[in-house]
Amino acid sequence: MTKSNKPLKVIPLGGLGEIGLNLMVVEYDNEILVIDCGVLFPDLHWLGLDLVLPDFTYLIENEHKIKGLVVTHGHEDHIGAIPFLLGKVKIPVIYCSRFAGRLITDKCEERHVKDKLFTYNVSAGEKIDVGQHFSVEFVHVTHSTLETFALAIDTPHGLVIHSGDFKFDEEPYDGPPSDKKRFKELGKQKPLLLLADSTNSERCGHSLSESSIGEELERLISESKEAVVVALFASNVHRVHQLMDIAEKCGRKVFLSGRSMERYVQIAIEENYLPARRDMLHAVEEINHFARNEVLVLSTGSQGEARSSLQRMAKNENRWLKIQPGDTVILSSRSIPGNEKAINFVVNSLFKLGAMVHYQDTNDVHVSGHAYQKEQLELLEMLKPRFFIPVHGEFRHLNLHARTARESGCVSEETFVVENGHVWSYEPERDVATLSEAYAVTTGRLWVAGDTEGSLDASEIKSRKAAARAGVINVNCLVSARGSKLAKTPHVILTGFLCKESTRAKIEKEIATACEEAFENFYADNPEGMTKEQWVASHARRAVRRYLDIKPLIIVSTVNI
Ligand SMILES: [Zn+2]
Repeated sequence: MTKSNKPLKVIPLGGLGEIGLNLMVVEYDNEILVIDCGVLFPDLHWLGLDLVLPDFTYLIENEHKIKGLVVTHGHEDHIGAIPFLLGKVKIPVIYCSRFAGRLITDKCEERHVKDKLFTYNVSAGEKIDVGQHFSVEFVHVTHSTLETFALAIDTPHGLVIHSGDFKFDEEPYDGPPSDKKRFKELGKQKPLLLLADSTNSERCGHSLSESSIGEELERLISESKEAVVVALFASNVHRVHQLMDIAEKCGRKVFLSGRSMERYVQIAIEENYLPARRDMLHAVEEINHFARNEVLVLSTGSQGEARSSLQRMAKNENRWLKIQPGDTVILSSRSIPGNEKAINFVVNSLFKLGAMVHYQDTNDVHVSGHAYQKEQLELLEMLKPRFFIPVHGEFRHLNLHARTARESGCVSEETFVVENGHVWSYEPERDVATLSEAYAVTTGRLWVAGDTEGSLDASEIKSRKAAARAGVINVNCLVSARGSKLAKTPHVILTGFLCKESTRAKIEKEIATACEEAFENFYADNPEGMTKEQWVASHARRAVRRYLDIKPLIIVSTVNI
C-alpha cells in the first residue's frame, strides 16, 4: 500500500437520507472502491413504477478508476441495482459472500448481463486487496439474512470501518454472534472513520434476539387446529430455519408459497445453509394431500404486495390454499412505511375469511435485524473512531445516530451528517476531514417500470401523478401554413375522466373554445415566459376548473398543415 499526500474521499451516491438505495464510493488517487449497490421499492406502484435505482453518473464518469465492488450482504437494498450498474459500467470484480453471489448471479441472468459479472466469494475473517491502495477485511455481523459482513478497509491514511447492516444478537438462531472480539482489536488500531447503520437509531435499548420470537411462534402454531400460514421475507433464512424446526416439533409439513420463497430456500439448501429435509419440505401444489392441521405454509407477501401469495390468499384467489375459518395467519415481519394500507387490506380480508391473524402489533412475532441505540453505542465504544458518519437512514435516523455519537464522547474528532452527493475528504497534510457543499457529485434516482429503465425528473413524476389522479386532456391544434391561424377549432379528447357524459361534452366544448381564443390571441396577449402550447394549456386548465375541481395532465400539440 503506497502512501502520499493525496486525500481520501468517501462519497455516498445513495442510502443517506433514505432507507435503501445503498451505494458508497471510497476513493483514493486514481482508485475507487464501491460498497454495495441497492435498490429502493417506491411507494409509487400505482404509477406503474417498480424500482428506484441510484444515479450512476459518477461511476460512469470515473469508470477507469473502479477497482472493485464489495457487497456487505444480499438484501435487495444492497445488491438489487448491480445488474443495472453492470449494464453501464465495467466492474472488474464483485467481492461477496457465497449466498449473495448466488442471488447476484440470478439477477444478472434475469437482466441478461451475466457475461459482465465477475464475482469472487469471500468469507468472514478473510482479507483481500482491492487495487493498489485498499485492503478489505470482512467481519461477521448478525442481521436478518445470511452471511452479513461489516467491512474493515485499510487505506493509505488509516482504517475505514463500514458496519453494513448489523445488530448485536447474542443468541442468533443459527451461526455465531457478531464478531465483537475483532471489533475490539480493530478499535486498538485507532480507526480514521466509522460509517454505521442508522436504521433503528430512533429505538432506545437493545434489539431483541432472533431466538426470542421462537416461543411465541411455536405457541401460536401448536395451538392452531387448522392450517397455519406464516408470511415473512424470503431472505430471512434464519427465520425460515427456525420455522422449519417449529413445524417439525408441531408435526406439520412445510409448504413454500411464492416465487422468491421457493428460490431463497432452494439456494439456501443447495449451499447448505438450510438442512435438506426433503421429508418435511413440500411444494405448495401437494398441499391437498395433507390434513389441514398438518400444514404450515411459508409465504411471501408480508408487505401486502399485489399478486403476492399472501394477497391472493386474502382475496381467496390462491390456487392451492383457500383460507377457512379456524386457520391461523402470522405476519412475521414489520410494516415498511408506505405499505400500511396494503397490509391492512390483507389483514382485514384474512379476518373476514375467518382466519385468526397475528402480527407485530398483537404478538411478539417479529424482531428487527438492525441495531438499536444501545448497540450503536456499543459499536462506537469498541471502535472509538476519529471521525464518524451515520449511514443507512432518513435524516431523522442519521441525526439521532449522530446525537448518540456526540453524547457518547467516543468520536475523538468530528461526527458528520452527510447527504448523498457530498464529498467527505480527509486531507493528510492538514490532518483534517472536510465536507464539500451538497451535490458536489451528481446523485439522483433512476426508475424502472417492468423491463424498461430511465430517469424521470420531478416534472415528469408530477405529470404521471396528474394523469393517474385526474386523467388526461389532449388538445390537438391544426395550424394553417402561415403558422398563426388555426385551420379549425382544436380537437379535444378527455381520457380517464370521472364525470357524466353530458358534462364531458360540455367540458370538451368549453376547452375547445377557450383554447381557440388563447391561440388566436397569443401574440396580442404576449404572455411572458410561456410557449404557445403552455399558454393554450393554461386556458384549458381554467376551462375544466369551471366544471370539476381537478388538475388533469394537459397535452397541447400543434400540427402545421
Ligand atoms: Zn439488510
